[in-house]
Amino acid sequence: MLTAPFEYRRAERVEDVIEWLSDETRETKILAGGHSLLPLMKLRLATPAILVDVSALRELQGVQEDGEVLRVGAFTRYVELARHSLINQKASLLSQAANVVGDLQVRNRGTIGGSLCHADPAADLPAAVLALEAQLVILGPNGTRRESAEAFFMAPFVTTLGRQEILAAIEIPLSTQNARSTYLKRPHPASGYPVIGVACLIDAIHNQTIGTARLAITGIASTAFRASAAEAQLVGGRLDAETIAKAASTAAINAPLDDDEHTEYKQQLVQVYVSRALQQVAAQED
Ligand SMILES: Cc1cc2nc3c(=O)[nH]c(=O)nc-3n(C[C@H](O)[C@H](O)[C@H](O)COP(=O)(O)OP(=O)(O)OC[C@H]3O[C@@H](n4cnc5c(N)ncnc54)[C@H](O)[C@@H]3O)c2cc1C
Repeated sequence: MLTAPFEYRRAERVEDVIEWLSDETRETKILAGGHSLLPLMKLRLATPAILVDVSALRELQGVQEDGEVLRVGAFTRYVELARHSLINQKASLLSQAANVVGDLQVRNRGTIGGSLCHADPAADLPAAVLALEAQLVILGPNGTRRESAEAFFMAPFVTTLGRQEILAAIEIPLSTQNARSTYLKRPHPASGYPVIGVACLIDAIHNQTIGTARLAITGIASTAFRASAAEAQLVGGRLDAETIAKAASTAAINAPLDDDEHTEYKQQLVQVYVSRALQQVAAQED
């Protein structure tokens, strides 16, 4: 399986990338880790004429605290997300999700920007960024814009990213840095992608009453989604067996699933995995 011929360009300036992406005569694609793009090219499902390597762009690099947010460059690889001390301390949910993506080879090459822009409905990281209520920093011909992760994912493999736009960074609010969290995944035995993945973040430090509850689910619907009704049910309660069972059941009933022969099975998955994720969080120390 060989790709169609293409021209390789290594970008030194973000302005050049934006200009190259505007070429309407030759399809131009950004190359990050290549772990989604190159398989598509080998299958000839994508045949870009130009690939732009963005690994040298400083706008896409680095992990730092920036005021009220943790800024994670779009070119940060999974392996760095999993190991970086700042991410471990301030947004551990992202480290946990990155740590279970694919295998070591995938984690050594794949980037958070590539994963989010590819928008595979079965990818792990969309659930984590939804639960962290991240903002995506996007550069384009009209400057910089910010979009919530919730608004970014529109449909399978479709985002709000314009043709000439580049995802530069992911900003994670530090307001939940002390919350308990877990990412629980049932990997497909053949592919390793999640059959279901549940990102769970609970702020229950105030006398065990839940102040913030976030549940984001990937793998089973057309995009990753927040289980909002279940979250609302959790807030103000305590993480006991009864509350967990009710929330898991609410998440299953309200999951935005296609109506087909798999619906019942997927609802069952949601119920079991939301329940297990909440139990894991309940067992964590403050
Ligand atoms: C064997 C295997 C197993 C895998 N298992 C899993 C798994 O368990 N869970 C999981 O979530 N994923 C899995 N993946 C997918 C993997 O996570 C990919 O790395 C990821 O989806 C894409 O990231 P990338 O950096 O490789 O992006 P690329 O493949 O380089 O790019 C993907 C797309 O995003 C665009 N793009 C990249 N960066 C930017 C940017 N900064 N701005 C705008 N557009 C951009 C590209 O143009 C392209 O369209 C697996 C892949 C393989 C090959």
